[in-house]
Amino acid sequence: MRDYVEKNLSKEDYSNCGMLIAISRRDLVDNLVHDLPDLIHMIRRGRSQGISFRIVGPVGVNRIEPNIKALGGIFIPEVSIVNPVSVTESFSREAMSRGVQFFLDHQVTGINVRKDGYTVLAGGDEFSFRCLVNSAGLYSDEVSSMAGISGYKIYPWRGEYYELVGLPDDYVKTLVYPAVSKNSPGKGIHFRPSMGGKVLIGPSAKLVKSKDDYNCDRFPKEVFLRAAQKFFPCIEGENLVPAYAGIRPKLSENGLEEDFIISLDRNQPPLLNLIAIESPGLSSSMAIAEYAGNILAEAMV
Ligand SMILES: Cc1cc2nc3c(=O)[nH]c(=O)nc-3n(C[C@H](O)[C@H](O)[C@H](O)COP(=O)(O)OP(=O)(O)OC[C@H]3O[C@@H](n4cnc5c(N)ncnc54)[C@H](O)[C@@H]3O)c2cc1C
Repeated sequence: MRDYVEKNLSKEDYSNCGMLIAISRRDLVDNLVHDLPDLIHMIRRGRSQGISFRIVGPVGVNRIEPNIKALGGIFIPEVSIVNPVSVTESFSREAMSRGVQFFLDHQVTGINVRKDGYTVLAGGDEFSFRCLVNSAGLYSDEVSSMAGISGYKIYPWRGEYYELVGLPDDYVKTLVYPAVSKNSPGKGIHFRPSMGGKVLIGPSAKLVKSKDDYNCDRFPKEVFLRAAQKFFPCIEGENLVPAYAGIRPKLSENGLEEDFIISLDRNQPPLLNLIAIESPGLSSSMAIAEYAGNILAEAMV
């Protein structure tokens, strides 16, 4: 993905800023007993996955992130941020140049399984396909049911963000994450510099009642402020303003981290289900596409 981005996007659309997973100074008093084992777990996991990182102490942390108050952590220099709209537009331009047609504003409302393929009803039109790839995100369980495979259930877990305002543009330079346990429903409330100079703090993690519930019972600002002050004690309430929320498609009510499901659920005619492609689904999208393409190519011979 990084190679693709560097080759196809303009320099304004990405930054190789790196990622810091830190233990805050405040943890020395409150939380070290939890956070240190979590960090050790992440170090072990990173090593087993061949991720290159370095362990840094308080001085090393401040060389990377001058305003942070941290005891140390791990720094992963290869992590980048990218403008998700630009990368998606680049993918779609490339797909169109290879003959792919997009039908936007065509909600799939029915799927008929034929012997030799599928008839899909969408936006009042009817489409005929030899195979079907279901990558409908939060609604992938419902689309799968329409295609006759009804074993999936998606639980919507909302993640809310706040934006950091009123501080110098480079107040936070890298992605700054807390250490979280392997059972955490998300990656923890972290700092996310984004292209265009905004810094976001989030996301929270909460199971919501419906897949389009972006607003009910939002977390109070104090939750984000506490998470922000853990690393940057100078941040005040007035430095945080509410930003957007997104909803993760999770496979369980308790929000446990699970792997993506990429499953050929019918051989003839082929139905490939992509279920619970939550974060890091965008970063993994090229690998997912290659993997899914290989499965389909085999199924179509
Ligand atoms: C809060 C949050 C933070 C995230 N942060 C990161 C991150 O830092 N890095 C990262 O890699 N990933 C991140 N992600 C995850 C990333 O956004 C997803 O993994 C990715 O968008 C999944 O892509 P997808 O195509 O499977 O699903 P989606 O992007 O959800 O796309 C599904 C599409 O299907 C369409 N659709 C649904 N039902 C129908 C229907 N019946 N008919 C027609 N169309 C339909 C939807 O409109 C949508 O366009 C984050 C997600 C959230 C919510």
